[in-house]
Amino acid sequence: MIKVEKVNIWGRVTKCAHRCRYCLQGEQSQPLLNWDTYVKTVERYVRWGNENDMRIGFELAGNFDLTLEQYKKYLELSSLCGKFSDSLLMGGMRMRTEDEMRIWLAERQEMGLKKVIFSMGGTEQHHDAMNRRKGDFQYLLGAQRAAFILGLSVEQRIFITKENMQSMDGLCRVLDDIGVPFRRSIYPLHFRGNAMDMENVRLDENDVKCIPENVMRYMMPDMLLSERQWASQLCGSTEQNPEKIGFFLYMDTKNTEKLLSGDCKEIIESAGKEVAEEYAKMPTLAELCRRYADTSCRKIHEGKSKVYALWFERYIADTENGVTPRKAAVLHSIFPAKKSVIHKI
Ligand code: SF4
Repeated sequence: MIKVEKVNIWGRVTKCAHRCRYCLQGEQSQPLLNWDTYVKTVERYVRWGNENDMRIGFELAGNFDLTLEQYKKYLELSSLCGKFSDSLLMGGMRMRTEDEMRIWLAERQEMGLKKVIFSMGGTEQHHDAMNRRKGDFQYLLGAQRAAFILGLSVEQRIFITKENMQSMDGLCRVLDDIGVPFRRSIYPLHFRGNAMDMENVRLDENDVKCIPENVMRYMMPDMLLSERQWASQLCGSTEQNPEKIGFFLYMDTKNTEKLLSGDCKEIIESAGKEVAEEYAKMPTLAELCRRYADTSCRKIHEGKSKVYALWFERYIADTENGVTPRKAAVLHSIFPAKKSVIHKI
């Protein structure tokens, strides 16, 4: 039986300073929410959830350039949700010099920041083009140097494509020179948002064979299968769709008032009902595979969930399934709920 176990209130409160070609969020032209209103709404629902055995969390479109005051509140909200968030994604920020970045990071480190996560798209020429911001590569190196000096944990997430794969080895050497990261991962593009338009540069089976060993050590070779290879593994799968799910409750300037003044129980239950109804119609992984896999396609997807995303989009687009834009938005808001912990206050 389908059970909604988690709701994340999603909001865009700060503006991203990038326009990355691979951005998973896609279009970002929506008006920003007022910070105080967003915080008030999240607090209201989290408190309601904590009293009513419903896990309510929150997720910002990005933590781009949160002011110190906002960062303090962000940490308070995280702990109200039962988790202490000690990391920050460093994409989407305005450029700063290395000294400015050291101060910016040190101020947040005093408040509990322990880890910073950087995304990169190859060496200078490739990265700046991928992130559509000249000078971004050098800025990110400076920011990482500042983080290393402060003793913060640095995670590096790197996207590999046909265009930049030759630069990966060089990038690793440049990064090795500035410090030892807590983690470095190199992976192919996801199939989401703007990255869906980059299929022409997705790695294929032959490309994978040419990746040098010292680059492959940051990848998951067992997960680097092509669509046709995944299809032959998954079309006989007996895996059922997870019964415990969560969904994003998207907050925007149009529904703010309703979310703030409406009855929390009614709003969560009615959204949850709509989500569960649409989710119940979703085919299993094996059925999606049988109906939508291209068994001749040699393009690589890292892991089952990534190739699932591709088949899921084909299911949405198939007019036979009657997925209206509204239903598509509902389906896109769903995620599998893993842990079941309610934070009591
Ligand atoms: S920094 Fe992140 S949110 Fe902004 S455009 Fe790039 S991927 Fe998208």
